[in-house]
Amino acid sequence: RSPEAPAPEERPQKRHAGDVGVVVDHYNTRPEVGVAQRETSPIIGLKSFNNWVKSVLISRFGHPALQASKVVGRGPRAGRGKVLDMGCGKGGDLTKWAKARVAELFGADIAAVSVDQARSRYQSSRNSHFEATFAALDCYSEPLSKAFSPAKLATPFDVVSLQFCMHYAFESIQKARCMLDNVSKWLRVGGVFVGTIPNAEQLLHNLDEIPPDSDDLSFGNSVYKIRFEDRVNKPVFGHKYWFYLQDAVENVPEYVVRWDNFVQLAAEYGLHPVYKEEFHDIFSEHQDHPEFGPLMVRMKVVDANGESSMDEAQWEAANIYIAFAFEKR
Ligand code: SAM
Repeated sequence: RSPEAPAPEERPQKRHAGDVGVVVDHYNTRPEVGVAQRETSPIIGLKSFNNWVKSVLISRFGHPALQASKVVGRGPRAGRGKVLDMGCGKGGDLTKWAKARVAELFGADIAAVSVDQARSRYQSSRNSHFEATFAALDCYSEPLSKAFSPAKLATPFDVVSLQFCMHYAFESIQKARCMLDNVSKWLRVGGVFVGTIPNAEQLLHNLDEIPPDSDDLSFGNSVYKIRFEDRVNKPVFGHKYWFYLQDAVENVPEYVVRWDNFVQLAAEYGLHPVYKEEFHDIFSEHQDHPEFGPLMVRMKVVDANGESSMDEAQWEAANIYIAFAFEKR
């Protein structure tokens, strides 16, 4: 355990009010399941696919930034580069960063129970040849320096990663700004910011398709459901919907991330887009790739004959998301 992280029993559980409280309670109470039980999930195909997309993103944009880093680890198996995993959850991406041969990783998440699980996962992993520090922090309302000491932050990050979590910051412009400040402030020039977020175009298109006289602003299928409270939202931040994903998310409030808004705001923090792709297109673009095609089989996204492990409903749910990469200039 890092000196910055008190033992779970010593740490007072911080209560969060409003929508943030719903989000925190949801993630804190979701049980940590082992590899064997994970395999039995009814949406294992979709979960594997999401993991594969993150691996592609990290490999394509994270690896070059790490290789160009000045941060070099210690020991014979030492890696290179420094990563911030914001909204790290239970540490689901630790293996991906281990494979990227990172030297140092910082993980922060608002859900303290998840942070403890991420730390335990790191400690019990036999191939943790990198240093990792974890902290509980509301990354969209508080500065990163509240969780990590100035000495720890002195050397900038090469990569900042926000996977399936940035949309919670779009509750208000203040939160989105706080998030972007935390991303950019400690990222080196030339470093990359990667993430996965819901696809606003897709969400708003589906909302538009609902007949004007209908009060039920929801759509989805057997795997996912999205229910908006309002058709339009002014100002553009805080356009809220409730999200359900089978065996993963139980009706949690989320917010639309309009791409143009995001890009415009990010530019104020020196962050400029270099990649944006829908998940379906990431699949078709990389299925014959010499590295990511075989990885799809190893990660059980498709079987050896190329048969998808997702049914139609999971495949449709997969395209709710887009992946992106920004560069700091
Ligand atoms: N990034 C992880 C992954 O890909 O496996 C976890 C994704 S999970 C869907 C979303 C995460 O965002 C949760 O762990 C949640 O606690 C975190 N989160 C939501 N709001 C946050 C905030 N204000 N600050 C930090 N983390 C937050």
